[in-house]
Amino acid sequence: METESPILCYFEGNVVPLKDAKVGILTHAMSYGTGCFEGIRAYWNEEHGQLYMFRTLEHYQRLHHSSRVLMIQLRHTPEELVEMTADLLRRSGIYTDAYIRPMAYKADEIIGVRLHNLRDELYITVQPFGNYIDIDRALNVGVSSWKRIDDNMIPARAKVTGGYVNSALAKTEALMNGFDEAIMLDSNGHVSEGSAENLFMFRNGVAYTPPVTENILEGITRLTIMTLLREELGIPVVERVIDRTELYVADELLLCGTGAQIAPVGSVDHRPVGNGGVGEIGHALQKVYFDVVKGNVPKYAHWCTPVHAEARKPLAAVS
Ligand code: PMP
Repeated sequence: METESPILCYFEGNVVPLKDAKVGILTHAMSYGTGCFEGIRAYWNEEHGQLYMFRTLEHYQRLHHSSRVLMIQLRHTPEELVEMTADLLRRSGIYTDAYIRPMAYKADEIIGVRLHNLRDELYITVQPFGNYIDIDRALNVGVSSWKRIDDNMIPARAKVTGGYVNSALAKTEALMNGFDEAIMLDSNGHVSEGSAENLFMFRNGVAYTPPVTENILEGITRLTIMTLLREELGIPVVERVIDRTELYVADELLLCGTGAQIAPVGSVDHRPVGNGGVGEIGHALQKVYFDVVKGNVPKYAHWCTPVHAEARKPLAAVS
């Protein structure tokens, strides 16, 4: 009898079953948060019989940037990492929406805070994955009492594991206070981003998003949305500082990220945004975004890397 192929991962130079990839409890990255990572999605397109990884090259370019900040030497180019990831998805037999989590980290099992003279390692995991947050309704968000980490503290532009304590503090506070998500301000009181999402605000037909100098992760979905707003919806996009109370008077707001995808916001600090539901732009953007990520829009096909060598025909089509 044919057994299902186990989920495989790349771990410190080898491809092994996920359950066999283990690090020791003294691993530097675990003690000190000295790792950097990515979150990438692959979308299954039933009509094409194909799995597409979305903007994987840009994610691996960002992993290289994060690694540079942490003085981590990556032994593979972004292009090689894309191919290694496709290989894992293929060999793990994944034919459904999936999530990819690469991490580069300080691997020595030693005591001592620093970045230099340490062994750098890499893993890449893949797993079937659905929605990270509910995107079929508008989210109720709260401005966090936790400030966003500053570039001179833990740079938000690098996706550093240790920096996610800041996100976790804000997210848990928001959930325990009855909100769906947190929006963090920087130390000057300007809007930076959600716990794992960038932010777009719409006022009088113009989209605004904080610039990359406002202690945000330089999000890839953010770039995708900027392109789709301009080119597909004809909405101008301005990168500028956003005040907290602008969120209260916005026509529409949304959070976006690889995990969250496009998440429209229905209220901020108990004040409704627009009519409190999913707005017109949010709705239109979700539609075009899901078309694009699933590889259905030829103009953006270069963002979608097919995984499987041969398309798998829908079961109904097999005679
Ligand atoms: N900001 C933070 C803090 C995040 O963790 C994420 C998720 N990676 C994002 C923004 C969105 O980035 P991307 O669109 O590249 O996933």
